[in-house]
Amino acid sequence: MTVQDATQIESQSANGDFLLSVVVPMYNEEEGAKECVKRLKTVLDGMKCRYEILFVNDGSRDRTLEILKEVRIHEPNIKIVDLSRNFGHQLAITAGIDLAGGDAVIVIDGDLQDPPELFPALVAKWQEGFDVVHAKRRKREGETTFKLLTAKLYYRIIREIAQVDIPVDVGDFRLMSRRAVDGLKSLREQHRYVRGMVAWLGFNQGTVEYDRSARFAGETKYSLRRMISFSWIGLTSFSVVPLRLATFCGLISAVVGFFYAIYALIVKFYFHTAIIGWTSIVILILLLGGIQLICLGIIGEYVGKIYEEAKDRPLYLIKDVF
Ligand code: UDP
Ligand code: MG
Repeated sequence: MTVQDATQIESQSANGDFLLSVVVPMYNEEEGAKECVKRLKTVLDGMKCRYEILFVNDGSRDRTLEILKEVRIHEPNIKIVDLSRNFGHQLAITAGIDLAGGDAVIVIDGDLQDPPELFPALVAKWQEGFDVVHAKRRKREGETTFKLLTAKLYYRIIREIAQVDIPVDVGDFRLMSRRAVDGLKSLREQHRYVRGMVAWLGFNQGTVEYDRSARFAGETKYSLRRMISFSWIGLTSFSVVPLRLATFCGLISAVVGFFYAIYALIVKFYFHTAIIGWTSIVILILLLGGIQLICLGIIGEYVGKIYEEAKDRPLYLIKDVF
């Protein structure tokens, strides 16, 4: 992007002449689809900008697609991206973002848990010069205590061990500027943890707070199993720390083993109470156990490097060129 482009976009966005894309992943949301369109339209019509709504139908097995198609007949601003099957939330978002043409792109869930009424606040923050504006949850209604607790714990853990600064209590409801979107589009890894990847992008990232409400209709598509697998992708996509666990265990067992070996020798040569053969077996087991774990850890380090390379991410992203 040249300086001229940049200033042009800036002045355009300031006087309201810009295109806003709203990406909405939909999976079996027939009960809430109409209400969703209504809420989105009410908010967007009240904003002085051009907009497009991109629904991504993620292989729904109910009437979601038919309902969206019906609505579309009267709404030229609505586009529908129909995926060939259910690819999951993160890939549905990715497909929508890839096809969005806006100067700013907002991703929002189709179950109305995230309030579209927050759009003006997100856009205002973008116009202040932020490239990524996260909507941060202040409180969450209609979620089980278990989900709240595990979510809280998880975000704290991932923050500690991942090398990127993934903001706490932030989901996939956010606005991204064109250059942030282009950056995200250049990360083509298979196992996607979009909120982590967005954090990886850098640029100026800000937050706007909101209260998360309960689902309008339908039920959550994240079963416990999916939740666990999603969390695991998040941890392992941003950290090779789990691979280092072997080295860590190996070192601990080597140290403990060392002291236990001394104890075994004392029992044998000082107290003379050891059964014949016990000392040597104990020492061998401890020694080999430690060595094996350390070797596994070393292999893990290399696997980690291969993993980083295989992701084939760009090495850096350019923010501006002056
Ligand atoms: N979703 C999707 N594909 C899936 C699962 C979910 O596109 O395989 C959509 C779903 O329709 C919703 C959003 O992603 O708009 C978030 O899903 P959900 O509400 O089930 O997640 P939760 O809010 O419980 O974390
Ligand atoms: Mg939801």
